[in-house]
Amino acid sequence: MSISHIEHIGIAVENLEEAIQYYEKVLGLSCYAIEEVADQKVKTAFFKVGQTKIELLESTDPEGPIGKFIAKKGQGIHHLAFAVDNVADALAGAEQNGVVLIDKSPRKGAEGLNIGFLHPKSTFGVLTEFCGEK
Ligand code: ZN
Repeated sequence: MSISHIEHIGIAVENLEEAIQYYEKVLGLSCYAIEEVADQKVKTAFFKVGQTKIELLESTDPEGPIGKFIAKKGQGIHHLAFAVDNVADALAGAEQNGVVLIDKSPRKGAEGLNIGFLHPKSTFGVLTEFCGEK
Protein backbone atom coordinates (compact mmCIF):
# COMPACT_ATOMS: atom_id res chain seq x y z
CA MET A 1 0.00 0.00 0.00
CA SER A 2 1.22 3.48 -0.78
CA ILE A 3 -0.27 6.43 1.10
CA SER A 4 0.87 9.83 -0.18
CA HIS A 5 -0.85 12.20 2.27
CA ILE A 6 -3.98 12.84 4.32
CA GLU A 7 -6.54 13.54 1.59
CA HIS A 8 -9.14 14.94 3.96
CA ILE A 9 -10.53 14.94 7.47
CA GLY A 10 -14.29 14.44 7.65
CA ILE A 11 -16.08 16.43 10.35
CA ALA A 12 -19.73 15.86 11.26
CA VAL A 13 -21.66 19.09 11.89
CA GLU A 14 -25.26 19.80 12.76
CA ASN A 15 -25.50 22.92 10.62
CA LEU A 16 -23.37 23.28 7.52
CA GLU A 17 -24.00 27.01 7.06
CA GLU A 18 -22.95 27.83 10.62
CA ALA A 19 -19.88 25.62 10.39
CA ILE A 20 -18.85 27.22 7.07
CA GLN A 21 -19.05 30.63 8.74
CA TYR A 22 -16.60 29.49 11.40
CA TYR A 23 -14.10 28.02 8.92
CA GLU A 24 -14.30 31.12 6.71
CA LYS A 25 -14.62 33.99 9.20
CA VAL A 26 -12.56 32.68 12.09
CA LEU A 27 -10.02 30.44 10.37
CA GLY A 28 -9.86 32.40 7.14
CA LEU A 29 -10.28 29.37 4.87
CA SER A 30 -12.57 29.48 1.88
CA CYS A 31 -15.19 26.95 0.97
CA TYR A 32 -14.57 25.93 -2.65
CA ALA A 33 -17.30 23.35 -3.09
CA ILE A 34 -20.63 22.32 -1.62
CA GLU A 35 -21.93 19.00 -2.80
CA GLU A 36 -24.77 16.71 -1.83
CA VAL A 37 -23.87 13.01 -1.82
CA ALA A 38 -27.32 11.39 -1.95
CA ASP A 39 -25.86 7.92 -1.50
CA GLN A 40 -24.41 8.90 1.90
CA LYS A 41 -27.35 11.14 2.89
CA VAL A 42 -25.05 14.10 3.44
CA LYS A 43 -24.34 17.58 2.22
CA THR A 44 -20.62 18.33 2.18
CA ALA A 45 -18.54 21.50 2.16
CA PHE A 46 -14.85 21.47 1.26
CA PHE A 47 -11.90 23.62 2.33
CA LYS A 48 -8.26 23.23 1.34
CA VAL A 49 -5.51 23.35 3.95
CA GLY A 50 -2.34 22.77 1.97
CA GLN A 51 -2.65 19.40 0.28
CA THR A 52 -5.27 18.27 2.77
CA LYS A 53 -8.95 19.09 2.73
CA ILE A 54 -11.48 19.57 5.46
CA GLU A 55 -14.78 17.92 4.55
CA LEU A 56 -17.71 19.16 6.61
CA LEU A 57 -20.62 16.74 6.65
CA GLU A 58 -24.20 17.67 7.44
CA SER A 59 -26.77 14.90 7.49
CA THR A 60 -29.77 15.15 5.18
CA ASP A 61 -31.52 12.25 6.93
CA PRO A 62 -31.50 11.33 10.66
CA GLU A 63 -31.23 7.65 9.60
CA GLY A 64 -28.15 8.27 7.46
CA PRO A 65 -24.62 7.51 8.71
CA ILE A 66 -23.87 11.10 9.79
CA GLY A 67 -27.31 11.54 11.38
CA LYS A 68 -26.72 8.41 13.46
CA PHE A 69 -23.14 9.42 14.30
CA ILE A 70 -24.22 12.83 15.66
CA ALA A 71 -27.11 11.29 17.62
CA LYS A 72 -24.66 8.88 19.29
CA LYS A 73 -21.46 10.90 19.65
CA GLY A 74 -22.29 14.51 18.87
CA GLN A 75 -20.50 16.75 16.39
CA GLY A 76 -16.81 16.25 15.75
CA ILE A 77 -14.20 14.40 13.76
CA HIS A 78 -15.92 11.59 11.89
CA HIS A 79 -13.25 10.04 9.68
CA LEU A 80 -9.71 10.27 8.37
CA ALA A 81 -9.09 9.81 4.64
CA PHE A 82 -5.75 8.77 3.20
CA ALA A 83 -4.84 9.40 -0.43
CA VAL A 84 -3.78 6.15 -2.08
CA ASP A 85 -2.81 5.44 -5.66
CA ASN A 86 -5.27 2.57 -6.04
CA VAL A 87 -8.28 2.22 -3.72
CA ALA A 88 -9.15 -1.37 -4.72
CA ASP A 89 -5.58 -2.52 -4.05
CA ALA A 90 -5.44 -0.63 -0.74
CA LEU A 91 -8.71 -2.23 0.44
CA ALA A 92 -7.51 -5.68 -0.59
CA GLY A 93 -4.20 -5.14 1.20
CA ALA A 94 -5.94 -4.08 4.41
CA GLU A 95 -8.26 -7.08 4.24
CA GLN A 96 -5.30 -9.43 3.78
CA ASN A 97 -3.95 -7.99 7.01
CA GLY A 98 -7.12 -8.88 8.87
CA VAL A 99 -8.85 -5.49 8.77
CA VAL A 100 -12.65 -5.56 8.60
CA LEU A 101 -13.81 -3.58 5.58
CA ILE A 102 -17.00 -1.54 5.34
CA ASP A 103 -16.56 -1.40 1.56
CA LYS A 104 -15.33 -4.57 -0.12
CA SER A 105 -14.76 -2.63 -3.32
CA PRO A 106 -14.42 1.07 -4.17
CA ARG A 107 -17.45 3.27 -4.73
CA LYS A 108 -17.87 6.87 -5.85
CA GLY A 109 -17.59 9.54 -3.20
CA ALA A 110 -17.59 13.33 -3.24
CA GLU A 111 -15.55 15.01 -5.99
CA GLY A 112 -15.91 11.91 -8.19
CA LEU A 113 -13.11 10.10 -6.37
CA ASN A 114 -13.09 6.40 -5.61
CA ILE A 115 -13.45 5.73 -1.91
CA GLY A 116 -13.62 2.80 0.46
CA PHE A 117 -13.95 2.62 4.25
CA LEU A 118 -12.30 0.41 6.87
CA HIS A 119 -14.25 -0.49 9.98
CA PRO A 120 -13.21 1.51 13.09
CA LYS A 121 -13.16 -1.65 15.21
CA SER A 122 -10.14 -2.73 13.15
CA THR A 123 -8.43 0.67 13.13
CA PHE A 124 -8.20 1.64 16.81
CA GLY A 125 -11.45 3.56 16.76
CA VAL A 126 -10.80 5.76 13.75
CA LEU A 127 -13.17 5.38 10.82
CA THR A 128 -10.63 5.26 8.00
CA GLU A 129 -11.18 6.00 4.33
CA PHE A 130 -9.01 5.35 1.31
CA CYS A 131 -9.45 7.86 -1.44
CA GLY A 132 -8.01 8.00 -4.94
CA GLU A 133 -8.48 8.50 -8.65
CA LYS A 134 -8.20 4.78 -9.37
ZN1 ZN B 1 -14.44 11.33 3.40
